[in-house]
Amino acid sequence: MSRVVAIANQKGGVGKTTTSINLGASLAYHGKRVLIVDIDPQGNTTSGLGINKADVKQCIYDVLINEVQMESVLLSTPIEGVDLIPARIELAGAEIELVQVLSREHRLKRSLQRVRDRYDFVLVDCPPSLGVLTVNSLTAADSVLIPIQCEFYALEGLGQLLNTVRIVQKHLNKRLEIEGVLLTMYDARTNLSLQVMNEVQKYFQEKVYQTVIPRNVRLSEAPSHGKPILEYAARSRGAQCYVDLAKEVIHNGQ
Ligand code: ADP
Ligand code: MG
Repeated sequence: MSRVVAIANQKGGVGKTTTSINLGASLAYHGKRVLIVDIDPQGNTTSGLGINKADVKQCIYDVLINEVQMESVLLSTPIEGVDLIPARIELAGAEIELVQVLSREHRLKRSLQRVRDRYDFVLVDCPPSLGVLTVNSLTAADSVLIPIQCEFYALEGLGQLLNTVRIVQKHLNKRLEIEGVLLTMYDARTNLSLQVMNEVQKYFQEKVYQTVIPRNVRLSEAPSHGKPILEYAARSRGAQCYVDLAKEVIHNGQ
């Protein structure tokens, strides 16, 4: 049975893409078959996995808008065990174009149906908004993983995200669960990081992963080399932490 996990937070820069790429690669490292769906028009996951966007002929946009089959858009990546549904900038138009489409919230769910069972995990890297692309992801998902950056406004906006999750649970996807809450860019030298961690733990309790992702310069360098951290700097703290996170994610689902 495959598990579809949406990686969502409408804030930009909290580590959604970094987590999609590196959790994906780490799940594959543990022997899992992984599909990563890039549903952010920025396409950062696509390039971060070593795919040249200029070479991408069709992307998730064509699946959502032109009803192209997932199979014809699916790419294998340089990482063994990781496949990708890429995104290109034309996806930016989908938010508006989908408005006129019947049962638009179910587009991703329906198109994933035919391929999801080839994988143990399908990770969906959401855009930084709560628009129709994120709603499609939450509708298609079994669970949502929420990365939270350890910084001053960390909890601001989380109410809105959780409200969206509740609305989706009520009207579109009853089975949607919170997969887990991931603290990212943790800086052990600051009190602030510790304060955010305490607050998030108080609020989400056992939903917070034991693994906390530190601020790690290797993690921020890896995308420009088109590689996950495991290939770019396998011995770094960042790599170790994502490997640990993958273990937790696998364990929690058993
Ligand atoms: P999002 O997808 O939520 O917008 P990203 O994953 O793209 O966030 O991260 C935002 C920026 O922060 C990127 O430049 C990324 O390389 C960097 N970054 C993410 N996680 C870390 C980390 N743990 N340590 C250092 N830099 C990070
Ligand atoms: Mg992103």
